[in-house]
Amino acid sequence: MKVYQRTVSKSVSVTGVGLHSGKKITLCLKPMPSDSGICFVRSDSKNPKTLMANALTVGVTENNTSIGSGESTIQTVEHLLSVLYALGIDNVLCEIDGPEVPIMDGSGASFLYLLRQAGVRNLEKEKKLILIRKKVLVRHQDKWASIEPHDGFSIESSISFDHPVIGDQKFKFDFSSSSFIDKIVRARTFGLLRDVDSLRDKGLVKGGSLKNAIVLDDFKVLNSEGLRFKDEFIRHKILDTIGDLSLLGFPIAGSVKSHKAGHYLNNQLCREVLSNKENYEIVNVSELKSIDENIYDIDGFALPSLA
Ligand SMILES: [Zn+2]
Repeated sequence: MKVYQRTVSKSVSVTGVGLHSGKKITLCLKPMPSDSGICFVRSDSKNPKTLMANALTVGVTENNTSIGSGESTIQTVEHLLSVLYALGIDNVLCEIDGPEVPIMDGSGASFLYLLRQAGVRNLEKEKKLILIRKKVLVRHQDKWASIEPHDGFSIESSISFDHPVIGDQKFKFDFSSSSFIDKIVRARTFGLLRDVDSLRDKGLVKGGSLKNAIVLDDFKVLNSEGLRFKDEFIRHKILDTIGDLSLLGFPIAGSVKSHKAGHYLNNQLCREVLSNKENYEIVNVSELKSIDENIYDIDGFALPSLA
């Protein structure tokens, strides 16, 4: 069975708030042909430049992943990228009339609903993968991230926070579109109340609220609805990691392991992989006899409850 590249069936749009800018922003997703990649364009720019999302175009990685520079910068691309990856969408144009992708509820769930509304269709060319050939490891202080050869795509991550609700959390995720929808897509971003002032001083999280993040004081979760999963924090890190690593440019055949990694290390890992052609190979899915093609199966995918 051949697995084909995918795009959206029709254009769709959604309006929301930018987490960092606090601005009201409209995101429009449009179909693109095979081999276009995931592209972004700032429709509010006087001189709009279309950028293909790729790890080498990543700029700032503080509290979000941004691509491009100057007027064409687009912040907070990681949650949208993660959901596009999960639905096997290889080609799409993301048009945005502001500096960042709207944060929606802080998870990937709204983008899943939007893509459900758009529909997903196969294109004529076969899906390509980036096959990891050699183990690559990057470190920064006590944090590290690695990727090594594997027949599927898996992520095993851990975090360690000196906080009574978060503490030490670990999660192993074997990627498939359906398990992403079951286990990962609803996990929201999070922040500590004690960090808000210093982040705002840096021009970040101006749009942050209890509607788009889990917010914690020194003892507890402040959101009245509580957590969606007991370990929602590490699940969100998996969501981020998939979005950040999708910037390798192709779906991944590899096993990722990380400890306390964030957007910076995820991007360093991608750059290290791409820096040496011996680390990887771009192949058609049908060339990999050992990979389970059903991991991209989204026929009749069910939407998660947000309760
Ligand atoms: Zn995130």
